Amino acid sequence: MKNWKKTSLLTALVLGLLIVGIFYLFNLKVVSSSGDIEFSPGLEPKGTTIDSVDNTPRNIIIFVADGLGFTHLSLAMLTQQKENKTSVWQQFDVKSWHDTRSTFGPLTDSGASATAMATGTSTFFEVIGQDAEGNHLTNVFELANAQQYNTAIVTDSYIWDATPAAFVAHTGSRDNAREILTQIAASELDLLFGELEDLGEDEIPDLETTIEILKQRFQLLDATLTLPQQTEVLAPIAAIFEEDEIQDMTSTPNLLQLTDAALRYLSYRDSPFILLVECEEMDSASHRNDSKRVLKGIAALQETLSLVLDYAKTQGETLVVFTSDHETGGLAAVSDSNYPNLQLVWATKNHTASVVPLFAMGPGAETFLDVKRNSDIGQRLKILISTSKGLSE
Ligand SMILES: [Zn+2]
Repeated sequence: MKNWKKTSLLTALVLGLLIVGIFYLFNLKVVSSSGDIEFSPGLEPKGTTIDSVDNTPRNIIIFVADGLGFTHLSLAMLTQQKENKTSVWQQFDVKSWHDTRSTFGPLTDSGASATAMATGTSTFFEVIGQDAEGNHLTNVFELANAQQYNTAIVTDSYIWDATPAAFVAHTGSRDNAREILTQIAASELDLLFGELEDLGEDEIPDLETTIEILKQRFQLLDATLTLPQQTEVLAPIAAIFEEDEIQDMTSTPNLLQLTDAALRYLSYRDSPFILLVECEEMDSASHRNDSKRVLKGIAALQETLSLVLDYAKTQGETLVVFTSDHETGGLAAVSDSNYPNLQLVWATKNHTASVVPLFAMGPGAETFLDVKRNSDIGQRLKILISTSKGLSE
């Protein structure tokens, strides 16, 4: 009996020490019995880097579906099955995921996550193109411009929103609209299609000032998106639309039409290009827990992605990287007694700490196989651009 007591005490002590050791090692602390867990920013996964690539593309299209998580993706796949369409998702060579964490911890926002993807360095919430200490970070567009690439942005959100801004600008806050717009006009960006928002409020210039700033670099197109003649020397172009004007496939223009016009323009120009397409609908709809709007957004997303993949396959030297910056809403598709019908339920109106999909197709796609964190995407894009065919042409 005495020995048994000793043994169990010893076992309990060893187990206790082991648990304390594990918690100490991973800096993980259960804060309360309600399930709150505190994670440190440095927790796994660590980022992975590569030094070189075997296969380089001529063009790169980065497609970011803001706020899209694995349930949004599952709904997209289910929609295509229901409509008997060929899945756009099955066309990708690489189907993976990445951890979207910021330097703050497992949560992030579009500023921090897009900065990580555009520069290869993790940063803090709300920051655009700078690290957590405020240092300037070179982004993939700047690297591409230095090698005679054309650079372009198409978004269904406003043109100075965090995701597009992180590929062009450098500022401590995503709310610095005037500063971001001024930096866009001073950049080497060749095409910019997107909306305006909250004109004249706080840091946001009014319409007249916005146009004045944009005209310093871009030829402004009207809503018909009539491109300059192919034979003309093409100036950098921009097209701006009202708040929420670009939403789903019923919008004029919609994301599909804007992306189509951008690809035609970039083809005329006949230089290697890097194009960012942002579908922001998932994030806006999920912040509102608006399931119907999510489904409409999914339709616009899939139609546009299908166009992008068709372009890449026909062109033959274009890499497409599809991903998301974070999940929004904690969306789940569940069923009660009425199986197999699904109900969409939401856990939050904010971002979640979920990992998100990462897909790639075309030359260099395999580069994204062992990506762990959002910053790894930027690191690989930089390697691809600095070793790509853009240099030799
Ligand atoms: Zn959001």
